[in-house]
Amino acid sequence: MPAKPVPGVFENPVILEILERYRVVWALGHAMGLLSWDSETYMPPKGVEERAIASGELAKLRQKLILDPELVKLVEKAEGLEGLNDYERGVVRVLSRAIRIAKSLPPELVAEEARLSQEARDAWKKARSESDFSKFKPYLERIVELERRKAEHLGYEDHPYDALLDLYEEGLRVKDMDAYFNTIIPTLRSTLEKVRSEDFYPESHPLESVRYETKAMEKVNRAVLDMLGYPWDRGRLDVSAHPFTIDLGINDVRITTRYEGYDFRRTLFSTVHEFGHALYELQVDERLKATPLAGGVSMGVHESQSRFWENVIGRSPAFTARIKELLDENLGFTRDYDAVELYRYFALVRPIPIRVDSDELTYNLHIYLRYELEKGMITGEVKVEELPQLWNDMSENLIGVRPKNDAEGVLQDIHWSLAAIGYFPTYTLGNLIAAMVWRAAESEFKDLYSLVEEGRFNAIRDFLRERIHRWGSTYEPKVLVEKALGEPVNAERFNEYITWKYLELPNKL
Ligand code: MG
Repeated sequence: MPAKPVPGVFENPVILEILERYRVVWALGHAMGLLSWDSETYMPPKGVEERAIASGELAKLRQKLILDPELVKLVEKAEGLEGLNDYERGVVRVLSRAIRIAKSLPPELVAEEARLSQEARDAWKKARSESDFSKFKPYLERIVELERRKAEHLGYEDHPYDALLDLYEEGLRVKDMDAYFNTIIPTLRSTLEKVRSEDFYPESHPLESVRYETKAMEKVNRAVLDMLGYPWDRGRLDVSAHPFTIDLGINDVRITTRYEGYDFRRTLFSTVHEFGHALYELQVDERLKATPLAGGVSMGVHESQSRFWENVIGRSPAFTARIKELLDENLGFTRDYDAVELYRYFALVRPIPIRVDSDELTYNLHIYLRYELEKGMITGEVKVEELPQLWNDMSENLIGVRPKNDAEGVLQDIHWSLAAIGYFPTYTLGNLIAAMVWRAAESEFKDLYSLVEEGRFNAIRDFLRERIHRWGSTYEPKVLVEKALGEPVNAERFNEYITWKYLELPNKL
């Protein structure tokens, strides 16, 4: 029995049959999402083992449902149809891709990856806590070997790393990423140098060590989310070790944050970051619900939305002025600083070895380092045993800081232990697209930041919904970017944004 037609969106009978069959895949994803949200928030610690078994079984079931011969046959039939509209073509594109990926990976390889990454994660945790790379090395060697085989199964045209990149960002290639980095790295490095020789953006700030009451800070976070327009009847704010957003559907998009107890900008901007992710999901066209088009289209486009709210909107003088009173009322200690001084604290620039705590000028240098090493590991030019040394040398040359040990160097991130090679570049892609959104919003509104100062966030939300969010996964990422922002991914926009914010803006404050 086909799904009901949605006029102007889903009408073709083959597509309607596909959507009906897809519904159980969606439902399983919905349930798995709730399980994973629960694992990170309220599950008792000892529940972890059974939860891992359940999640593994459900992931296999999901794969089986995607490869259901009836569904595959319908999708193949739809690939040959003419006269489909954009939404219908989107359904075919998303499912063809999922089927192609599922078919090209042998089940033994998928199972091996799941097992290996479970073991590797434990090994990584131990290795990091002891700051001893040799404890992680044998696992990473197996992971790299596995990912190289995976690339061969998936197939590629130019570079084996392309196959892995494409898993996280449909259509992204090494030649794109190389060009983006070549464009931004000289500007990042020269801007960093200039910022350090001037004294507007500090390297550290007394507010970093000031402690806050968690209750008071939670009130601030909730009030900021209110101000930005987070709908509490369609979401929640909880606490987890690593902040994240999860969409269970268009009307149930939850976020988490964490409270370190000091340096309140961390929890504040992490909350604003997750709001950006959530808003994307919340503003998808409701007619796409429970279909393959319901979610945001890719990691890179998703990260552009979180970074836009966190950095372009959040870490701005206008936003600081907007929330100043709220901070003074709830935290008290911010009264000792005026809005410009608070902004300097929010946007401080300090090269450090750790990626996640890095500022806008050094963040993408951290990604470049990982990108180069990953490419080398996949081609075989970089041996796993050389990583700690290479990492430290690159960090020193690129970012200007040498990690003191493996824990703050090569072992700092979890990704490699999860076999997530090819994931890091989507962070930089997100930053680049965020700068394009900044440019497009500036030309739409003439003065984006007066909207922020006046608290007219609804206008910004509407703009993002119309241009990007409402489409869900209808268009592939590259097509969406060009359609929404008027040009293909253009790394120059990021240079313009960085130059404006870090070199021009201070003179106007
Ligand atoms: Mg994010």
